[in-house]
Amino acid sequence: MKFADLHVHTFYSDSTFSPEEVVTWAAKKGLSAVAICDHDSVDGIEPCKTSGKAVDVEIIPGIELTVEKSDVEIHILGYFFDYTAQWLKDKLKEMQEGRIDRIYKMVEKLNAEGVDVKAEDVFRLSGEGSVGRLHLAQAMLATGKVKTFKEVFNKYIGFQKSCYVSNVRFTPKEALDVLLRAGGVPVLAHPGIMNRDEYIPELIEYGLRGIEVYHTDHKPSVVKHYEELAGQYGLLMTGGSDCHGLGKGRVLLGGVRVPYELVEKLREESEHIKHEYR
Ligand code: AMP
Ligand code: FE
Ligand code: FE
Ligand code: ZN
Repeated sequence: MKFADLHVHTFYSDSTFSPEEVVTWAAKKGLSAVAICDHDSVDGIEPCKTSGKAVDVEIIPGIELTVEKSDVEIHILGYFFDYTAQWLKDKLKEMQEGRIDRIYKMVEKLNAEGVDVKAEDVFRLSGEGSVGRLHLAQAMLATGKVKTFKEVFNKYIGFQKSCYVSNVRFTPKEALDVLLRAGGVPVLAHPGIMNRDEYIPELIEYGLRGIEVYHTDHKPSVVKHYEELAGQYGLLMTGGSDCHGLGKGRVLLGGVRVPYELVEKLREESEHIKHEYR
């Protein structure tokens, strides 16, 4: 049987893994395909495709966009969209600039609270990639002032905590429109982390096609719940590890995987979308 991990990051966002490392791990784990879903970036897709050829791992173009409601952040995955479209690249470039700006703002707030972190240390960690809170968290821990990952997010930079700054440019509807317009299949990432099922019908109204039922942070009861919900709404059930290389401690790649048939379904769905929105 062939399997795919449909949620993998690279160092083009907040994973520590290069494209070579991603595909080497994928091959080692016996995966036929991985979807590259970096935060607000498509820069890792082409390099991963090139690296994937050598080890016969198929690379599925993906992305993870962040949007917000007043009380929660929502991550939307997109699959099989035209990642070469210039209008899309322009939008993502704006988001990248916003991410840089946001790091300066969060660093300023952290400094005011006595966490002596420097923006340049955060940017050293992110390199050329999409800079985010995981890089900031690592730089905060390196100061020694904050001791645990949990404290970093629960006290300082988690959603709407004291030093949180948003970089959201889209409403949920706009994010889904972007993905659909690019011919992509929009999927709700890790709904168990979001834990606000009441927003799902609204997302479906905007064109959501699937939910990430299988995820590293979903325990069996959560998986069962979202299997039922997906069945009820007629949504595709996707899954992936959300591997960040060593960015979250251990390597998660391949720890969550789905049968390859689902890749075919996503590809087909993207064809429908491309016809519908052309
Ligand atoms: P950003 O894209 O900059 O908003 O950062 C998102 C990253 O921060 C993702 O990799 C998340 O897994 C991580 N993250 C966000 N909130 C938390 C949290 N409460 N605990 C651990 N990691 C988090
Ligand atoms: Fe991340
Ligand atoms: Fe996410
Ligand atoms: Zn992710």
